[in-house]
Amino acid sequence: MRSSDRNGAEICAYILCAGKGERTGLPYNKVLHRIGLKTVVETVLDVFSKVGISRTVLVVPTGETEVFSQLASPYRDVFIVEGGATRAESVLNGLKAFPCDIAVIHDGARPFVTAELIEDSIASALSFGSGVCAVPSVDTVKRVTPDGKVSSLPRAQLYNMQTPQTFSYAEILEAYERVGLDVTDDAEAYERAGYAPKLIAGDYANIKITTASDLLRSLPANCRIGVGFDVHRLVEGRKLILGGAVIPFEKGLLGHSDADVLTHAVMDALLSAAGLPDIGVLFPDTDPSLSGASSIALLQEVLEKVMDAGYRIANVSAVVAAQRPKLAPHIPEIRASLARALSVEADRVNVSATTTEKLGLIGEGAAISCDASCLLYK
Ligand code: MG
Repeated sequence: MRSSDRNGAEICAYILCAGKGERTGLPYNKVLHRIGLKTVVETVLDVFSKVGISRTVLVVPTGETEVFSQLASPYRDVFIVEGGATRAESVLNGLKAFPCDIAVIHDGARPFVTAELIEDSIASALSFGSGVCAVPSVDTVKRVTPDGKVSSLPRAQLYNMQTPQTFSYAEILEAYERVGLDVTDDAEAYERAGYAPKLIAGDYANIKITTASDLLRSLPANCRIGVGFDVHRLVEGRKLILGGAVIPFEKGLLGHSDADVLTHAVMDALLSAAGLPDIGVLFPDTDPSLSGASSIALLQEVLEKVMDAGYRIANVSAVVAAQRPKLAPHIPEIRASLARALSVEADRVNVSATTTEKLGLIGEGAAISCDASCLLYK
């Protein structure tokens, strides 16, 4: 949205991170759970930073200001406010600390929000006073009274509320102050204060992370598999580097860079999965600045491109084919080195080694090759 569409309205986002999240079973705040390289709350901040808003207010649990300040430090115009005992109290604390014209209220535990949803809710609030993301209920919902009497609600009339829920600041503040804090979402306060919330189309993928199974739900959606292959000649007078680890051997691999065949195959697997050009295109061996380059440094550049394309690493798996040296003793070091470069836990990177039973150039000890695969998810 162009700023001229907003008539100069000051737009503030209030991101609620003060929930306890006990149903996830995590021993820490669920918004601090990592999805790939970033935490849930950083993933939310990434999306909000793509939308033109004046400031973003993180409402955090009492006593956790420090950790959130650190996470927010790379982002512009992000401020921290301590929340309250309930969601409603946290919203009110945020609203009172930073007045504005249009208030975008979002759950910190909804990392799959998109810039489009945020923009749509702002546009609706500018036109109608509110814009509340909602999706038609896919489940049949029943009311059960305390004495066990069950009655059915008409599904066609039921919607599941999501966030962002965006409002005229003055109206939502007045609503909360007038109806009190016994509400489970902002639209309820707005509605009970006599306003008519305007629902807009949400997205079924925009789930709130509530239970442990929600933490796994990001994996099956939008997965991409990738493969990479590389081979380098073994020669005297070079270091043997595999996955960034220096392997003691009388020969090393020949190449323009450090010729780390394993890291090259992993890079191509990642790029392939993300639909990006391969390393021959990104790092041509005619580029003099890449002479002797550390492949692990190039891997980190590749990782940035993959992350910029919106992907996170589920796992990386590779097999190195070498007649000699015996690689088994070095596998833990190689895995740890690759995992460090990819900023993932070591159990997401596995490397195995094989000989080729003395067959072919690899079996003769003239070269080492590597096949790698990876799984990325959005
Ligand atoms: Mg290569």
